[in-house]
Amino acid sequence: MRFADIIGQDDIKRHLIGTVKENRISHAQMMLGREGYGTLPLAIAYAQYINCQHRTDSDSCGECPSCRQISQLAYPDLHFVFPVPATGSTKEKPVSDTFFRKWSEFIKQNPYGSYQQWLDYAEAGNSQGLIRVDESSEIIRKLTMKSFNSGYKIMVIWLPEKMNSDASNKLLKLIEEPYPMTLFLLVAENSENIISTIISRTQIVKVPRIADADLCAGLQRVAGTDAAKAEKIARISEGDFCKALEYCSQTADLAQNLDLFIKLMRVSYSYKAPDMIALADELASLGREKQKALLAYSERMVRENLIMNRQLTSMARFTDDEGNFAQKFSRFIHPQNSGLIAEALDKASYHISRNASAKIVFLDTIITLARCLRMPA
Ligand SMILES: [Zn+2]
Repeated sequence: MRFADIIGQDDIKRHLIGTVKENRISHAQMMLGREGYGTLPLAIAYAQYINCQHRTDSDSCGECPSCRQISQLAYPDLHFVFPVPATGSTKEKPVSDTFFRKWSEFIKQNPYGSYQQWLDYAEAGNSQGLIRVDESSEIIRKLTMKSFNSGYKIMVIWLPEKMNSDASNKLLKLIEEPYPMTLFLLVAENSENIISTIISRTQIVKVPRIADADLCAGLQRVAGTDAAKAEKIARISEGDFCKALEYCSQTADLAQNLDLFIKLMRVSYSYKAPDMIALADELASLGREKQKALLAYSERMVRENLIMNRQLTSMARFTDDEGNFAQKFSRFIHPQNSGLIAEALDKASYHISRNASAKIVFLDTIITLARCLRMPA
């Protein structure tokens, strides 16, 4: 992966390239930001740039043997550690190598993929992904091997927040007393779940959200989305390419969710019992995943309508259809009721995911919404 393949993030690319040019590559660095901002692609492109035999001032060549191997995630001095589930035949002490073929397939398909998407891809079922203590011995084994290409040995750790404390403590020792010519690239989403002693010994590279214009161009280039649709989706994806790809594949769902959201608000506001019951029945028949998606969508709509209500229209993130509805609807969402509505939607989502009766959950939610929507601003 070359820097040119990465969507936006020009400042971060310049910074990383600068560390190589000025020969000040810190031995432990942490790319910190949402997966969809491109933290992992940046780490891979950085590893490729460091190892490229013909790098230029702005990128790796993409052609030399190192570049070719790294783009296939098959470079012998580049190692990957990532959370793995304990499932089926791998229940006994699974480590990253157990899942490497599957993970590399997943990342090659979409280097912006999220943790949850990875677990789905690995068919993890109810098992959580973890980096277990056995992984530490694997890391030590790999880093003590002679390097193949007499350059850096690079260890990319995707989501170190999923390390258990034994694994973290062992990793800490390695970072404190590094082997010569080794480089740790931690790719984390949430630094709060990483032990502070690791944080304090790594150089943090904060990766911000992708700018809307870059996201729009990226959708057209990578996913072949047409310009109008890309622009629309970039506006609601919060700078997250993973999210943008999800929206791309569900634009039909977006339209359906908007229709249902409008209905939910109208029926609740009308306070007519037969309509309320009929709507609860309709929503109950949707299926759990769609119900959860609708509730999450509704929370976003309430948030954006509140922003519009507060006259911060330029900050509100809507598609054109959502914006048209919000023109009239946003006056009903204000600081007195927005928190209560969000809470009701959140509670509904919690109960739905725990298999409560959807009909009762939705009826209860509609009654709460009815009360909230009629509150004075
Ligand atoms: Zn190269």
